[in-house]
Amino acid sequence: MKDIHRNASKRISVRALIVSIILLTGISTAHSAPPDAEMCSFLERFHGHTCPGSLMGLRLGLAAKEALNAQGRITAKTLMLACSVDGIQVATGATIGNRALTLEDRGEMALILTDVQTDKQVEARLTQEAMNRAKIFRELSGNARTMDDGSPEQVNIKKKLTRSLTGFAQYLMRRW
Ligand SMILES: [Zn+2]
Repeated sequence: MKDIHRNASKRISVRALIVSIILLTGISTAHSAPPDAEMCSFLERFHGHTCPGSLMGLRLGLAAKEALNAQGRITAKTLMLACSVDGIQVATGATIGNRALTLEDRGEMALILTDVQTDKQVEARLTQEAMNRAKIFRELSGNARTMDDGSPEQVNIKKKLTRSLTGFAQYLMRRW
């Protein structure tokens, strides 16, 4: 709690330095390099599966890190407890375990990175378009779970999900 308050006041004091990044649109202002295949496969092993949330966290983390261009140690704060947390940890190296990542679950897909040396901060968020794409994926997944295992309907939806996930990853890699 104490840490959260300290971070909050520090953030206000450097407000002028906060840069917001909007990700995953054709008019994206983030220009960081896309994650390479090795990083994506490490994330899959670390997280246990490939999903839009972990991929979005990965890109959020990479874009924020590049925008921050930190001189030394960084700390991170994320506002959503979801799959994205693992992507953020892989991208930034700020983890719960090394105490560089704090989590305040407000249901917002946002990431704030701080350069500890300079106090500079970057806030990265996803666009509505990105959130909509993830929502469609979640709805399809939910539908598949209510169907009889192995039924033609379920097989069809699962194919659709796989295509959507592949498309999602490629889209992320292409656009970001
Ligand atoms: Zn996941």
